[in-house]
Amino acid sequence: MRLILLGPPGAGKGTQAKMLKEKFRIPQISTGDILREAVKKNTGLGARAKTFMDAGQLVPDDLVISLIKERIWQRDCEVGFILDGFPRNIVQAEKLKETLVEMNLVINNVINLEVDAEEILERLTGRSTCSDCGNMFHKVSHPPKTNGFCDSCGGKLEQRPDDNEVTIQERLKVYEQSTVPLKEFYTKEENLKTVKAKGPVEEIFSHVCQMIE
Ligand code: ADP
Ligand code: ZN
Repeated sequence: MRLILLGPPGAGKGTQAKMLKEKFRIPQISTGDILREAVKKNTGLGARAKTFMDAGQLVPDDLVISLIKERIWQRDCEVGFILDGFPRNIVQAEKLKETLVEMNLVINNVINLEVDAEEILERLTGRSTCSDCGNMFHKVSHPPKTNGFCDSCGGKLEQRPDDNEVTIQERLKVYEQSTVPLKEFYTKEENLKTVKAKGPVEEIFSHVCQMIE
């Protein structure tokens, strides 16, 4: 199965993608995670991407498109994949379409996670991630037992550098301008399905699963 998750920053795409990955045993491809990893390792890609990410802007299309192309050609993607954070604008969606046609593949499901702007701000400003295992916490909705450390592995919790109020506002603006048009694109192309992404994670997950064909 090949699936796309759409939605604003903080909609919980990453969380749902991880659960879907377990359930369907297909890889999760998160452009955000791949780019953050590249920044951490200070690769050429990372160095080019960093300025855009820190500013809350989209990384140039040619970079993310070649990254995605390379990734979906890998062996483990033969069984399918979950795209989380890609595509993020029409150019990326068109390129993805082109690539999949070349590969003789189709997208089976596009799920749009919907949350309002106020809720997003609240979620993003309070979240932290374990630097070792990637587990996510939130100071209000899911606080760690020991402040600053991961419940499951004891790793140090970090806040993403782009989870500050100024950058979040910019990411939301970019989302409105560039990513929202994808809802129409995928309504026409693939029968987009929308899930309200508020409430307990498991409940949202079960709604997402109901939508999947
Ligand atoms: P969020 O959805 O919470 O904003 P992501 O982890 O998906 O976070 O993305 C973080 C940053 O990585 C984005 O603000 C952007 O700079 C960059 N990025 C991720 N995916 C893409 C993409 N498909 N195209 C361009 N830039 C991207
Ligand atoms: Zn951890």
